[in-house]
Amino acid sequence: MTDTLFKKIIDREIPADIVYEDDDCLVFKDINPVAPIHLLIIPKKQIEKVADAKLTDKDLLGHLMLVAGNVARDLGVEEAFRLVVNNGSGAQQTVFHLHIHLIAGREFNWPPG
Ligand code: AMP
Repeated sequence: MTDTLFKKIIDREIPADIVYEDDDCLVFKDINPVAPIHLLIIPKKQIEKVADAKLTDKDLLGHLMLVAGNVARDLGVEEAFRLVVNNGSGAQQTVFHLHIHLIAGREFNWPPG
């Protein structure tokens, strides 16, 4: 796959407000936040979307969820946050490098829309 904007952030070719990094993932602030806290959790491995993940990505996908919980706890929002993954343009995915939105700090409604 071709390099996306997020790959350029991983490679430090484009700046981002990074809040967490480890060998497998990066967490940074969304440039266009929809809530007081809006982070993007991305794997360093380039996977276009959830539907493209393979069985061999199982640990990596689980890791992203654990990082989401840890970051939420660090920010004191572990009791109320939402994780969103848009898969495909029909679901409003705009950057084709798998990412989890972590949104918190405001009231939530359901269904999400
Ligand atoms: P999605 O629509 O699920 O693909 O989400 C892509 C997200 O990336 C959007 O919420 C954008 O605001 C965010 N975004 C786009 N460019 C940047 C950037 N340079 N730094 C941080 N977030 C970005």
